[in-house]
Amino acid sequence: MITVEQAVAIIEQTIKDFGVEEVPLDEAIGRVLRENLYADRDFPPFHRVTMDGIALRFDAFQSGQRTFSIEGIAAAGAAQQALHSPGSCLEVMTGAMLPEGTDTVIRYEDLHISNSQAEVKLGEAKWGLNVHKKGEDRKEGSLIIQAGLKISPAEIGVAATVGKAMLKVSRLPKTVVISTGDELVEVGKAPLPHQIRRSNEHQLKAALAKHKLRVEARHLRDELDEVVAGLEAMLAEYEVLILSGGVSEGKFDYLPQALEQLGVVKLFHKIKQRPGKPFWFGQAPNGALVFALPGNPVSSFMCTQRYIVPWLEQSLGLPAPAYPRAVLARDTTFKPDLTYFLQVRTEYDARGQLLAHPAEGHGSGDLANLVDADGFLQLPMGKDVFKKGEAFPLIVYR
Ligand code: AMP
Ligand code: MG
Repeated sequence: MITVEQAVAIIEQTIKDFGVEEVPLDEAIGRVLRENLYADRDFPPFHRVTMDGIALRFDAFQSGQRTFSIEGIAAAGAAQQALHSPGSCLEVMTGAMLPEGTDTVIRYEDLHISNSQAEVKLGEAKWGLNVHKKGEDRKEGSLIIQAGLKISPAEIGVAATVGKAMLKVSRLPKTVVISTGDELVEVGKAPLPHQIRRSNEHQLKAALAKHKLRVEARHLRDELDEVVAGLEAMLAEYEVLILSGGVSEGKFDYLPQALEQLGVVKLFHKIKQRPGKPFWFGQAPNGALVFALPGNPVSSFMCTQRYIVPWLEQSLGLPAPAYPRAVLARDTTFKPDLTYFLQVRTEYDARGQLLAHPAEGHGSGDLANLVDADGFLQLPMGKDVFKKGEAFPLIVYR
């Protein structure tokens, strides 16, 4: 059996770049950007009017003039106009180009207009008021977004503005989630007394959807021949297989045997941790990776958060997770010599410190308890008593 740290190190050795693909801008949210984006023009591209009102020459205003005759109107989307007489003004709308010969905009709120005359009701104003200067935010050709980040709505807006209808992003591995077990029925079915509904594959799909990984789901019955045949086909078709159930010591836990029979090299089986001890991980000769998680819902959920999500993020080009530390809100005891992933509910205390309240539930089968918790506090091996006030890494899923 290996430690959590050894398991993480082994999994990290299989991090790999699945390449780059281009996607339409509106499908790029949540993906990892793989190209630098540059300003194709100045930001903003012209002196942009920021308030509806009039544009005038500041020196006319400064010399004491308060009434300006209106020469015309500059709307947003119209080509640039020009002021003919230095003592006049033009009405201007937000988003319009500032007319040539003007430098300052006075809002309608600060004007009184009648008979094509605008009277400014301000005692003083500033040169350049209500004008967003050309190139003030970014210069043409400057780097605006560096490759390697996860695309948020902010990046979508910037990409649109620089004319990127398509974006280069990390390609996602072709992934399948496979449940095993004869006791399992589909969500839409009414289970018999000895059956339960399958939940792991749905929970797993949802956890990976945050990285836009579209995962297919399959089910295998607890029959060795069926498991071998099913896995053989899926190893040929998918780059990542995530299995749940069938990796423990039970009479029908055929997965380790079937995987080894198919030439999948075992990289580890069993981690010194609770939950999730029976986790099996290996790689097929064609490179396909197999994460075979224990069937208990809390175990498979925790292993997904702690091992699979970080592997995926780094394969896509994101950094390794930097888990924040949270402070235990009360003493906790855990005797077995295992790393304990304690379920916790978190909150900030009055001093802004992240507190973790233990919310243990009834073990790895208690999936309802996941709803009452926000994350797992990783309590190290080699210690039985964890004191209130001690801080530990938090793997938060909410
Ligand atoms: P196993 O790892 O196959 O021994 O399964 C351990 C426990 O997890 C059993 O009680 C199973 O019924 C349950 N289990 C296995 N797979 C799933 C699944 N896909 N959804 C919900 N529970 C499951
Ligand atoms: Mg099973």
